[in-house]
Amino acid sequence: MQAWLPHRNLYLDELVRLEGRGAHGHYHRCGKCGTGTGVVYRCRGQECQGGQMFCKACTIQNHQYQPLHWIEEWTGHGYFARTTLREMGLRFQLGHAPGSICKIPRPANKNFVVIHTNGIHQLAVDFCGCDSSLAYTQQTLRAAWWPATTVDPQTCATIPCLRQFVLLNALGNVSAYDYYRTLAALTNNDRCVKVMDRRHSFTLVVKQYRHISMLKRGGRCHDDGGVNGTSDGELALACPACPHPDINLPPDWRTAAQGQAFKYWLFLAEDANFRICNRLVSNDEKDPVLGDGWGYMVKKDRYHEVLKKSIDADEVRGFGYQLSIRRLTRIC
Ligand SMILES: [Zn+2]
Ligand SMILES: [Zn+2]
Ligand SMILES: [Zn+2]
Repeated sequence: MQAWLPHRNLYLDELVRLEGRGAHGHYHRCGKCGTGTGVVYRCRGQECQGGQMFCKACTIQNHQYQPLHWIEEWTGHGYFARTTLREMGLRFQLGHAPGSICKIPRPANKNFVVIHTNGIHQLAVDFCGCDSSLAYTQQTLRAAWWPATTVDPQTCATIPCLRQFVLLNALGNVSAYDYYRTLAALTNNDRCVKVMDRRHSFTLVVKQYRHISMLKRGGRCHDDGGVNGTSDGELALACPACPHPDINLPPDWRTAAQGQAFKYWLFLAEDANFRICNRLVSNDEKDPVLGDGWGYMVKKDRYHEVLKKSIDADEVRGFGYQLSIRRLTRIC
């Protein structure tokens, strides 16, 4: 840090320079077509093209494949103003190769929103309406956009965004509320423009993404039975630190020399799981169980059966937990 201190002026100057046109302020030709008029657009945060400035037509063309970039427009008054590709006239075609246009496009809802790692985008989107077109949900999924609804989707979250949130949630305890607020601030931090509130849809999508990811990692895609063929406990992960015969134990572990056998004992411990109350939901209609008994918890019906027989027990939840432990034990 001491070595950096004398360079602070340089860093400050360069940071301010990035907010202006930089070298592009010295010439007024489009970086692509060479035109000299209306060369006032660039990609915000230099996400592409290195901050080079372009005319409107070339900016739209450059972003046919990158519809989730933010664009800035030089106002002529010494600063850039934010604009969007939708305002500039970009329409993004789903269901076709990038750059090609469907002959029978089906415009999506005018408030179509895509939630991405760099903010919340309102886009003008066309679904493919050709004879052999796929369902709308398949068209969005093939663009790596996860739709919040299966009929006429109006909100999607990109898969990189879902992956980023799931990791932030797991490693940094970032809640969906805080993550969405961050994306809203990235979209517009001065709050002069209303950012679409699709937080409820986002939480719904996250839940679906987690569930489908579990099924993917459980290999259900490559089994004829598909999702519905998943058996009890199949999606639970075996603990890699636990001893497993034929995997991480020597072949003669059963006949280990006296004094060495303790290495292969199975140790089981119980701990209170206070977060198990997170599984309490208002009702199945509002918050249905997605993989009943497929992971670390027993099936709900079996759990309720035990509860019925244990009405007089002091700690009712404890029975469910112990049942889960037994289930885990069997899996391991
Ligand atoms: Zn141009
Ligand atoms: Zn860009
Ligand atoms: Zn088409």
